[in-house]
Amino acid sequence: MHTSVTPRSKLPDVGTNIFTVIGQLSAAHQAINLSQGAPNFPCAEALIQQVNEAMLAGHNQYAPMTGLPALKQAVADKVARLYGQHYDVDHEILITASASQGLYSAIAGLVHPGDEVIFFEPSFDSYAPIVRLQGAIPVGLKLHFPDFHIDWDQVRASITPRTRMIIINTPHNPTGQVLSKDDLAALAAVTRDTDIVVLSDEVYEHVVFEGAAHHGMATHPELATRSVTVSSFGKTFHVTGWRVGYCLAPAALMEEVVKVHQFMMFSADTPMQHGLAAWMQTADHYLGLSAFYQRKRDTLATLLEDSPFRLLPSAGSFFMLADYSHFSDETDSEMVKRLIVEYGVATLPLSAFYTDGTDHKIIRLSFAKDEATLRAGAQALCLVNPR
Ligand code: GLN
Repeated sequence: MHTSVTPRSKLPDVGTNIFTVIGQLSAAHQAINLSQGAPNFPCAEALIQQVNEAMLAGHNQYAPMTGLPALKQAVADKVARLYGQHYDVDHEILITASASQGLYSAIAGLVHPGDEVIFFEPSFDSYAPIVRLQGAIPVGLKLHFPDFHIDWDQVRASITPRTRMIIINTPHNPTGQVLSKDDLAALAAVTRDTDIVVLSDEVYEHVVFEGAAHHGMATHPELATRSVTVSSFGKTFHVTGWRVGYCLAPAALMEEVVKVHQFMMFSADTPMQHGLAAWMQTADHYLGLSAFYQRKRDTLATLLEDSPFRLLPSAGSFFMLADYSHFSDETDSEMVKRLIVEYGVATLPLSAFYTDGTDHKIIRLSFAKDEATLRAGAQALCLVNPR
């Protein structure tokens, strides 16, 4: 008789993440899905054709380890044009198999056991577990409620000699807030004369509303010298399932990120890289993305005017928060379940983005959906009975 091995878990408190749990519940109840930040509309057909052509042309073996030169060049050109920062194609740009893999590689490559990593909550769910897997300590600072700005005095007070990294996310998932120029100045001031690395998750860099500029690390020459910026082709070109992203960093930082990448993935998907490189050469497709998503945000907000929910302002990303604290005492998880089971619409509880489960009685809505889905989802939310 053989008994199976029970491992000593490295993440004993971690279960299946909220995107999967709610996705499954939503599917089981055939709910309208406003939960995951993934488009339910197609990408450009010409982009698919470019990938098909790459496959048919035989580009089906390993890509160069740090990425296809033509794709890295397209990224370098875009970043220089939009943000003014010049990244060296050979040493400062890495194509990754998803932005998530870029985040993992940056944290694993640069954070040592016992180091502290500051991040801001609510936050995307992977940051803290990745830090813990390095034997390091995630230090979650809460964004100021209810407008979710960063309290820079709190950041300054939280920095210790062991602080190795600060994780930034702008535009922000799940709150839809964006960093301002003043935020960048404050970040530069608190990190000046330290060896703290900034890891900046900018996967929604092309989704910033009201004509505002994206204030990423590449727009700030001083911060760029200490930053690893992570972005995503999936979010930008409606292909989140392709799992292709990229990192930007000065050569010395990038060298360590690449060391992890080469043992984790070796290289990202080859035909997708060829397709994306060819696609990026045809036009600056990302330029219309902010207006495209702003229309979706506004459509959903208008349709929800007759709902009992109070919407919080969204300045960027695929997301908008909705407050129900004035009409129900339910926890946000109870509310999300009830919305799926009784009203057939799936959203996410904001508490899932806090390591301590803070419940503000707020849910997250994704408007990265086609018009019919936004309409049907809003219609369901308008039927909710205040109790
Ligand atoms: N980034 C997306 C979101 O926040 C999807 C994340 C995921 O499914 N792992 O909804």
